[in-house]
Amino acid sequence: MPFFPWLVTGALVLSLLVPGQVRAGAAGDARRGRQPSPLPAPVALAPVPPTVVAPIVNPEQVYTYEQLTKDFAALAERYPQLVRLRSIGQSAYGREIWALGLGTGPAAVLLNGAHHGSEWLTVNLLAAMADDYAQAGARDEGIGGLLADATIWFVPMVNPDGVTLSQVGLEAFPAEARDQLRQLNGGSDDFRGWKANGEGIDLNRQYPADWEHIVASPAAPAFSHFKGPEPLSAPESRALYQFTLEVEPEIVAAYHSAGRVIYWHFHTAPEDLDRDLTIAERLAELTGYALMPIEENPSGGGYKDWFVQTGGRPGFTFEIGQYIDGGPLPLSVFAEEWERNRDVGLVLAAEAVRLRSMR
Ligand SMILES: [Zn+2]
Repeated sequence: MPFFPWLVTGALVLSLLVPGQVRAGAAGDARRGRQPSPLPAPVALAPVPPTVVAPIVNPEQVYTYEQLTKDFAALAERYPQLVRLRSIGQSAYGREIWALGLGTGPAAVLLNGAHHGSEWLTVNLLAAMADDYAQAGARDEGIGGLLADATIWFVPMVNPDGVTLSQVGLEAFPAEARDQLRQLNGGSDDFRGWKANGEGIDLNRQYPADWEHIVASPAAPAFSHFKGPEPLSAPESRALYQFTLEVEPEIVAAYHSAGRVIYWHFHTAPEDLDRDLTIAERLAELTGYALMPIEENPSGGGYKDWFVQTGGRPGFTFEIGQYIDGGPLPLSVFAEEWERNRDVGLVLAAEAVRLRSMR
């Protein structure tokens, strides 16, 4: 079994498609009474450009779980040489956690969003990024080499139940679950500020990174901040944890909102400080976000905390958008945050190739 079984599939598709297209062209010419042009000499298999290269993702909308599911399937179908799609697990209420891999190279980067339900504008951002890079790769706008050396994994919606609660509310959940969800939400039917998963666990307080000492965790499930009964008890955090171990990314980036800041440090080993700070400064320059200062006693349990501390590799948390009132960012800020973050995945992929070559 090859490590990337889809590559074999891709090669098969190519070998079937190329002669087929030539035959169709020749038959068409013959029907119009012209001599078919001579067949070109066989060459080494080159990527067949997709017939259509156009945006699939429309990020200027309340971007739902159903829309992501549909768009990621469409991206995988349109760009089979570049994109592979899989579910890395299911949420507590049975929604898939999608991972889309772009590129064929061994240097992996993993970008994820929406650990917190109300921070769903990060899904818009990462879905748009996946689409944008897939189009650029298909048009070979100078990133073909990078996508041959690297694979960028997008997991835009780690918490599909929480996102759906924030966007849609109780009606998207089974009738028998609604009383309990309302209770976890402080008795309110307004779920816009909901951050936890469907079980009332804060997914970014679930990772084994000084979990025991997380500060200000409620004693019981809640719409926000409850760290859970033990690390990785929530299916969504467990799925991302296992997927991260599987793809062994050189670098990870977790997208949250809000504040326009970047966290880059968590008990970072002294010998890794320069490496991580250099990348963080590059990201700050790119996005215009501020770097968070090193904290003496950070509260742990976060995805990037675990990755930095245990993996010894660079990990970043981006907080997009200006902080307003703790609720979801409005769609009106998307365009600016998109401009600030559009190249982050490519910059990290190039960095990942470099780091891998140094190991
Ligand atoms: Zn968050």
